[in-house]
Amino acid sequence: MDIRLLPEHDRFRDEVRGFLDRVLDDDLRDGARFCAGIFQDYATNMRWHRILYHQGWVAPSWPKQYGGTGWDLLQRYIWTTEASVAGAPGLAPMGLGMCGPMLIGHGTPEQRGYYLPRILSGEDYWCQGYSEPGAGSDLASLTLRADIDGEDYVLNGTKIWTTHAHHANRMFCLVRTDASGKPQQGITFLLLDMDSPGISVEPILFASGEHEVNQVFFDNVRVPRGNRVGRENDGWTVAKYLLEFERGGGGAARMQAALTRLKDLARSTPVDSGSLAEDPGFARKLASAEIDLAAIQYTEFRILAALAQGGNPGPESSILKNLGANMGQRITELAVEAVGCYAAPHQPEARTVGNNIAPVGPDQAIVVLPNYFNMRATSIAGGSNEVQKNIVAKLVLGL
Ligand SMILES: Cc1cc2nc3c(=O)[nH]c(=O)nc-3n(C[C@H](O)[C@H](O)[C@H](O)COP(=O)(O)OP(=O)(O)OC[C@H]3O[C@@H](n4cnc5c(N)ncnc54)[C@H](O)[C@@H]3O)c2cc1C
Repeated sequence: MDIRLLPEHDRFRDEVRGFLDRVLDDDLRDGARFCAGIFQDYATNMRWHRILYHQGWVAPSWPKQYGGTGWDLLQRYIWTTEASVAGAPGLAPMGLGMCGPMLIGHGTPEQRGYYLPRILSGEDYWCQGYSEPGAGSDLASLTLRADIDGEDYVLNGTKIWTTHAHHANRMFCLVRTDASGKPQQGITFLLLDMDSPGISVEPILFASGEHEVNQVFFDNVRVPRGNRVGRENDGWTVAKYLLEFERGGGGAARMQAALTRLKDLARSTPVDSGSLAEDPGFARKLASAEIDLAAIQYTEFRILAALAQGGNPGPESSILKNLGANMGQRITELAVEAVGCYAAPHQPEARTVGNNIAPVGPDQAIVVLPNYFNMRATSIAGGSNEVQKNIVAKLVLGL
């Protein structure tokens, strides 16, 4: 793959660096640095989202006609790399990375015209209502019922593991509209308002203390039939299309930045022979991770190239999802090894930006253990590693 930079790419990189220098203040950088969750905290996410929106850079992967930047593949790569290296926060993917591309592919002109500008501006914050207590890997067995009553669907049942449902004002959701045939054939895709009467959101806390996911209950919730995406009982097609974007990544630059932070950590960790970074055993592990991460980067390029030509990520996105989850976990494992005993004290208060509690050990050590715990979930969230391997075997390798 040819990734040589042209002079205009160098100029673009200077522009990006200048912008990041100008807008990234200490609060945004600390919000990103002390984020131990899988997702950026809501307040930091929204501040960063609005800054990028006003700059016109909030949705680089969208087609230009819908509010994308019109950047080529290398410009997008330069942007994500520079933003990660500069310590910029991440952005929640449910609207920009999942619902938006899904609407561009399957929404009506009215749905695109209404929802896409609101995703771009940050006015709408989305959550994903796919999983249920009895339907995760076997998603097609979902049972949340939607009965037709006049111009509305009436929803009864529950969704679980719903990331940021407690912040979201909208949900995209899979519901059961027909239970008579094959499970995949009776599913419908709906968009709904989280403040609809009959919806309640209960928190589920992670082992690390973070509140990211929830269980959502539906008690006779009315959703207008016009909020359906795609045809009735054909929501499975839309759901699968959206999942390709969820699994299509964009995370290699962030992992690269995490690896760079890990190296800094190793350099500042003394061992008998000097620093941990010079220890041959640890240096070998760092080098091995770096080589594997380069392979992930090239896989991501191939998927981005398909997107840049107007395609969707395809089932190959499952390769990236799997490799990315493993790499994220590996980096956090090495970070725990690097900080050693300093990983032990669990200090949720020290991670709150702006307080006066001094961290123990190397500065970065306070997020190492919660980050390690949270990254365990990445080989489950968005479809487990085993399920991704099944998809690759079937749809990529044709086995
Ligand atoms: C942090 C986090 C955030 C999430 N956020 C959301 C969200 O916002 N919205 C949403 O809808 N869902 C969300 N999920 C749910 C997620 O999609 C499911 O957890 C996931 O699909 C697995 O389903 P399950 O938990 O029911 O596990 P199960 O499906 O019960 O799987 C249990 C184990 O069995 C294995 N397994 C199952 N079937 C097979 C098979 N056919 N072959 C081989 N192995 C198999 C799995 O790999 C896994 O190890 C989130 C999950 C997590 C952990």
